[in-house]
Amino acid sequence: MTGTFTYEFDTPAYKGTSTIHTGLFINGQWVDPVQGGTIDVVNPAKGSIITSVAGGTKEDVDIAVQAAQKAYKSSWGYKVPGAQRGKLLSKLADLIEQHSAEIGALEALNTGKIYSKALGEIGSVVSVIRYYAGWADKVQGKTIETREDKFAYTRHEPYGVVGQIIPWNFPLGMFSWKIGPALATGNVIVLKPSELTPLSALRVCDLINEAGFPPGVVNVVNGYGNTVGQSIAEHPNISKVAFTGSTLVGRKILKAAAETNLKVVTLELGGKSPTVIFDDADLQKAIQWAAFGIFFNMGQVCTAGSRIFVQETIYDTFLEHFTKAAEHLASKTGDPFGTDSEHGPQVSQTQFERVMGYIDAGKKAGATVHVGGERHGEEGYFIKPTIFTNTTPDMKIVQEEIFGPVAAVIKFKDEEDAIAKANDTVYGLACNIFTQNVSRAIKVAHALEAGSAWVNCANTAEPGVPFGGYKQSGNGRELGEYAIDTYTQVKAVHINLN
Ligand code: NAD
Repeated sequence: MTGTFTYEFDTPAYKGTSTIHTGLFINGQWVDPVQGGTIDVVNPAKGSIITSVAGGTKEDVDIAVQAAQKAYKSSWGYKVPGAQRGKLLSKLADLIEQHSAEIGALEALNTGKIYSKALGEIGSVVSVIRYYAGWADKVQGKTIETREDKFAYTRHEPYGVVGQIIPWNFPLGMFSWKIGPALATGNVIVLKPSELTPLSALRVCDLINEAGFPPGVVNVVNGYGNTVGQSIAEHPNISKVAFTGSTLVGRKILKAAAETNLKVVTLELGGKSPTVIFDDADLQKAIQWAAFGIFFNMGQVCTAGSRIFVQETIYDTFLEHFTKAAEHLASKTGDPFGTDSEHGPQVSQTQFERVMGYIDAGKKAGATVHVGGERHGEEGYFIKPTIFTNTTPDMKIVQEEIFGPVAAVIKFKDEEDAIAKANDTVYGLACNIFTQNVSRAIKVAHALEAGSAWVNCANTAEPGVPFGGYKQSGNGRELGEYAIDTYTQVKAVHINLN
């Protein structure tokens, strides 16, 4: 297992070779899992196995935590000034940038993302790591006035060993959102990628070594959720867990933390985000954004605008043009490395079946498949962009996260009706609002229960802007200065001057 795997890309979009280590990355070295487990990695565009990589268990998590603890005490944490941490993060960003064509290809191969889009995502990964490199020497406490004979100040200290568990939809994107702020603030890491999409993270581990991070500062233990993931959530020597994934698993992580060492848990969970389009919107632009909002990354986006509310006065016109956008995308469905492709497969057979199950449930509940609703082609896990109409608020396809290219287009009457309908969900991750009336945009952005409100745009995260959920979409914030806060704990120091 401590071997390597080489893949030759000979595609219209990218030609080149990538070699990755397939073991577990612990203490700066590639090691075999204690129990020798392996996990097959599948190409979702073909349904075929790409390679097998190591799959760890609790024993490997224990070893990784020990390595991380040692690194924290000997060569990271307070031993390293923030400026030095920033320098290493900058170096890592540079290295990822230099290898972005190759890493983007691995990401497209493993997830089914369109190659050009995967490449764009690697650009965002570089920006996020660079952004946090800049924060590393700017984490500051405060001095606090109390009384004449006392001096008080705060320190923002790292937690020590943090556990990080990430999903498959943006494998390296989520990796960067996690490691950037954690390393900038002096923490050490035990990270589990999704067992479905470990390749890009494994490739970047070599770059972490090349950048010069001390061994044990970043440990990557690939494995299944109910073994490696659960061990991270339960581990007594992990002080904080940052999790991105489903609300179902988020609950399990909170429970595991509560029943063990009460570790701090931040959660970035699922969503059922509304796109609200008023009749004073720039309709052509709103249609493009609404399509991007739901069909980007084949709908496998936590902020996917899967409930599209359209003011009744423009509903028919919107639907006509939105249908054309979905049909256009369907005509561009194909191999992620095809230069003409714009829409790829779902990530796995399981996800394919899950999404098709929702489409079936929608039909059975009486909703109309306006367009799509079926698989594309014979091989791989492709699903056509799908639009449902004639839904009712109680339907599963309106209430539950589908995580596929499936939108429900729903009429609303006025502002009040739009707000009530948009907020009728247990989730609160994001919302998209389309109007040219500034007062209305602000009023609705404030009224919608969501951690991000995108006005006249959708799905646009920025390194410096916080991201996270209201309601059952999670707690805590990633990105921006807010993430720095979630990776530090505040110590108050009182000095008696008498
Ligand atoms: P998932 O919850 O099934 O898995 C996420 C990660 O958790 C994976 O690494 C998995 O192996 C691990 N895991 C599974 N069971 C576990 C357990 N019992 N204990 C610990 N870890 C466990 O989610 P997924 O299918 O990988 O990703 C899709 C979900 O992620 C969607 O619900 C989506 O909305 C959400 N997501 C949220 C955000 C966000 O920022 N809010 C971003 C991306 C994805």
